[in-house]
Amino acid sequence: MWRELLPVGRHEPTGGYRRHAWTSADGECRAWFEEQARKRGLSYEVDRNGNQWAWSGDPMAGNAIVTGSHLDSVPDGGAYDGPLGVVSAFAALDALQERGATGGRPLAIVNFGDEEGARFGVACTGSRLMTGALEPGHARSLQDAAGVTLGAAMERAGQDPDAIGRDDERLARIDAYVELHVEQGRNLGEAPVGVASAIWPHGRWRFDFHGQANHAGTTRLEDRRDPMLAYAATVLNARERARLAGALATFGKVSVEPNGTNAIASRVTAWLDSRAADAATLDMLVKEIIHESGAEVTRESYTPVVEFDGPLRDRLAARLGGVPVLPTGAGHDAGILASAVPTAMLFVRNPTGVSHSPAEHAEEADCLAGVAALATVLEDLL
Ligand SMILES: [Zn+2]
Repeated sequence: MWRELLPVGRHEPTGGYRRHAWTSADGECRAWFEEQARKRGLSYEVDRNGNQWAWSGDPMAGNAIVTGSHLDSVPDGGAYDGPLGVVSAFAALDALQERGATGGRPLAIVNFGDEEGARFGVACTGSRLMTGALEPGHARSLQDAAGVTLGAAMERAGQDPDAIGRDDERLARIDAYVELHVEQGRNLGEAPVGVASAIWPHGRWRFDFHGQANHAGTTRLEDRRDPMLAYAATVLNARERARLAGALATFGKVSVEPNGTNAIASRVTAWLDSRAADAATLDMLVKEIIHESGAEVTRESYTPVVEFDGPLRDRLAARLGGVPVLPTGAGHDAGILASAVPTAMLFVRNPTGVSHSPAEHAEEADCLAGVAALATVLEDLL
């Protein structure tokens, strides 16, 4: 499975993946998923929101156990974030079938569409639409950098954008969702596999710093209104405030006008991503950063803390013999689904902690331990 996925959407100069939602690379990943389903004799379907499903057993039974993840990537992402969960799901199903342990309930493997939000700016679009966390009209109007709307992109990929929205009928068929994912820090230590306890609350804020464009060679320093200075101070302040709060604050995207080497900027627009263990800490931190920035600030998204289902989490941890149980700062479809169905996550060790980068890695032995762990918990749940 890895051999087939390896070249898809790979950007040779960086070695990273560019599998953005509803592009041809994403389409190739989706074709791969469909082929995996068909060659195992699973019933294959695409739901109203563009998520792909492969079913072992009766899809309409109403008590399904679901596993899977996503196949799209961030710009120049790694090979494992997303695909590890989908590949492991198929491998775990194979293992269960081999030992005749597919149980009494249907098992579905899912590939959630547009998890990273790399193209249209909203993460977990497929699962958010399914659970009603994203309003269909707003989703359809989201635009990529070229001005193409999500609605148009879905239509081009053969999806009906008018059909998107909350899918109660499908949610009612699911008894539990378990997502396996590569760890995105290095908190597992000696353990190859762990169980998630919670996802930190997180959000994205847009900062607009206004100034006045002028000549870099003729404008005296005291006459300048240079928004780059306020931006730079804000980046440093955010970093220091986050450190003091035990939280995270990152400016990873910036756009400058007119963006000329010999021109003082007229405007700097930058995006803050901030996360903390609890909402009060996050709110306080972001309030301070905004207050001290002098910028005009718009909150673009906010995802509250997710506590994964307690009984399910404890059952997984016990079944796996006391593996670490730890929170994460990264968002996942499992975090979105947790509002609608009992949800749990397994993490596979990441030796360097690097993620969302071509250097993202997991050892083969750890990946195989992840498949074995997933098969064990699925067998228990089925
Ligand atoms: Zn992911």
